Amino acid sequence: MGVILPATATPWVDPMSSVRELFESMEYGPAPEDASVARQWLLEQGPSFGHWIGGQWREAQEHFASVNPATLETLANIGRGNSDDVDAAVNAARSALLPWQALSADARGRHLYALARQVQKHARMLAVLETLDNGKPIRETRDIDVPLVARHFYHHAGWASLIEEELPGSAPLGVIGQVIPWNFPLLMLAWKVAPALAAGNTVVLKPAEYTSLSALYFAKMSHEAGLPPGVFNVVTGKGETGRTLVNHFDIDKVAFTGSTRVGREIRKATAGSGKALTLELGGKSPFVVFADADLDGAVEGVVDAIWFNQGQVCCAGSRLLVQESVADDFIARVKNRMQTLRLGDPLDKAIDMGAVVDASQLETIRGYVEGAKKEGATCWQADTPLPENGWYYPPTLVTNVESAHTIVSEEVFGPVLTVMTFRTHSEAIALANNTRYGLAASIWSENINQALDVAAKIKAGVVWVNCTNEFDAASGFGGYRESGFGREGGIEGLWAYRKNLTDLPPDDAPPLPALLPDGPRESDSLDRTAKLYIGGRQVRPDSGYSRAVAAAQGSLAGEVSEGNRKDVRNAVEAAHGATAWAKASAHGRAQVLYYFAENLEARAGEFATRIESLTSADGEREVRAAIARLFYYAGWCDKFEGAVHHPPSGRVVFAMPEPIGVMGVVCPDVAPLLGLVSLVAPALAMGNTVIAIPSERAPLVATDLYQVLDTSDVPAGAVNIITGSRTELAATLASHDDVDGLWCAGHHEMATQVEQLSIGNLKQTWTMAADRDWSDPDIAQGRAFLRRATQVKNLWVPYGE
Ligand code: NAD
Repeated sequence: MGVILPATATPWVDPMSSVRELFESMEYGPAPEDASVARQWLLEQGPSFGHWIGGQWREAQEHFASVNPATLETLANIGRGNSDDVDAAVNAARSALLPWQALSADARGRHLYALARQVQKHARMLAVLETLDNGKPIRETRDIDVPLVARHFYHHAGWASLIEEELPGSAPLGVIGQVIPWNFPLLMLAWKVAPALAAGNTVVLKPAEYTSLSALYFAKMSHEAGLPPGVFNVVTGKGETGRTLVNHFDIDKVAFTGSTRVGREIRKATAGSGKALTLELGGKSPFVVFADADLDGAVEGVVDAIWFNQGQVCCAGSRLLVQESVADDFIARVKNRMQTLRLGDPLDKAIDMGAVVDASQLETIRGYVEGAKKEGATCWQADTPLPENGWYYPPTLVTNVESAHTIVSEEVFGPVLTVMTFRTHSEAIALANNTRYGLAASIWSENINQALDVAAKIKAGVVWVNCTNEFDAASGFGGYRESGFGREGGIEGLWAYRKNLTDLPPDDAPPLPALLPDGPRESDSLDRTAKLYIGGRQVRPDSGYSRAVAAAQGSLAGEVSEGNRKDVRNAVEAAHGATAWAKASAHGRAQVLYYFAENLEARAGEFATRIESLTSADGEREVRAAIARLFYYAGWCDKFEGAVHHPPSGRVVFAMPEPIGVMGVVCPDVAPLLGLVSLVAPALAMGNTVIAIPSERAPLVATDLYQVLDTSDVPAGAVNIITGSRTELAATLASHDDVDGLWCAGHHEMATQVEQLSIGNLKQTWTMAADRDWSDPDIAQGRAFLRRATQVKNLWVPYGE
């Protein structure tokens, strides 16, 4: 029986359904942030900005416009720094260096603390200015960029006062030239300036041409905070100004964040200059979704990964890899979510995506998407209305692609997500690693074993499990492979602004040429040419040539093989194949190094005699020191550990040193045994496999080691030894794209060549003095070697609430 309602009664409505309808039909009203204070500041500056040098403004000779990408209005005219400006800034930083270093660590800490407080006091101003200049939503600048900037200065205020205690045996580098990109202008400034100052250096910063305003405001704040003049300088300008800074003779380090293309140019330009270098470059990071993931959570992750900051994020999860069984479902959910993303005025607090930084960037994005279509991809875009003015690009999903497609392999740096599917766990890993980059990865699975296994196997500097795009000052950030080298944040980021006692620059003079024997062989032993040692076997050289080795007295001591490019290729292949070493436990590696030392000791007399006959040095002393060094690094194998960070968010971060991979080691001519052991042992201890180029003058000491290696359980391919011309073999190793790192003890010319040739895969290089006392532990062993033999992976895992 129905309810009879009086004629005048309002019909009954289910309150829940009306709330739902209301919710669904509700329109967003405008929620603009007031930009009047920031605009007033810009007006007060007059029409044009100068450079901030030595604690005051220096008028610029030329200017260019800085445009608001959301409205296309000119916000300000920015100075185009020339070589005089750069000179003045470097001079100011140089003059400020000693007084800055003369302050107590505590006083420097207080300056950084004052900068952190300034950032907090002017937080809204900075957020608005950044949004006006860059086009990113105010929600992001207000809630992410600026709080992270403050956190960075606070964190490093602490480091400034702890540095002498926590980074013993190190010193500041000096004057640092820093060049940053436009995607996180103020945050990149903080990532560079805070650790550099905390470590006792002074700075010249070149912001990106599209986004200089927050750096200029920061300059003003630094003055108000009482930072001594010259400690922090800003020279604005375009790429040419950056190039002038990078090439300035009087800077001690270049810290660069930007594209891999420019990173390569800088590596080449600084080769042989002795300047320290860190490169934070591009990426093409995988976002891996397993079938057992919380799919809705992962969809929100995708939004963060690729539509945060319009996808203009170096670590953007731009390659979605989703398990085939849930792919259709997941893509449908992503599309649904894309329809709800709101694009518009970045000053509107309810906007998800703002404008792209510049017309040229917009063209680049369009070009990539059009190119993808031509390559057969399907491009899907949400029908989100775009504002009429301004440089906007809609969120875009690209399917029907393969790894070889340009859109999958190259960094678009825009809101464009490619999708590929995988069936198995190992296929996911293979696809994730199928890139020349290695900046970051995000893995989504409710199965912790699966997620952590994949995290360990992905070659990237940062891995997020069930989260993405998380950053913190205590956790290092930086890449593997062509994403660059060096870390920003954490203690590893601080080390990048210090020099160690062991960092002795390459020798000025080349070593004396290898002696040619001037007489016949003296001993009556059988004539035998030492072969090369590749993949655990003694092999003949590809060249078919050998070279004579002279004894110290000038007679013929023996012959060694003349290694060439082909031998290096084979050795690199063998080193890559020596997976047993890379997978061995630290305890296992220690056992092998102890055994190596033991076996060397068993033949100590023989090695001592050989060293004495080839070099006239005290052979017994050198062998003893080499055995001690092997013991030393055997001891380190299971003790050079990472850290666990507790960022303010509900995560825990494991900072884990991982091996660099396949390392070339060009050993010194002097101390043929101890020099080789001092470089090969730390690399091995950390799990790298090695191609060693031994002393050119006394290579027979290294070839005598083959049998010791054979009897010490060193797996085949973990150590390979190639005799011949050190200069030629070093060049071959430097230009080999499957060599991940290269240490070169030698003279300046060789170091320059190695650094120049390393740009192919941007391998990490360490060029150093060969001519040092290799028996002195202060300069020939230590943690500095282990740090150089590893790269830190930061693994973010949800933890607690
Ligand atoms: P970009 O390389 O074009 O420019 C970066 C900076 O270098 C700018 O200040 C520019 O003026 C300057 N520059 C240009 N040519 C130079 C030269 N020859 N010598 C010295 N300086 C020069 O990069 P971009 O377009 O501004 O930024 C986007 C790139 O930055 C992307 O590839 C992105 O992945 C990368 N990025 C990396 C990280 C990281 O931490 N790994 C962070 C943010 C951005």
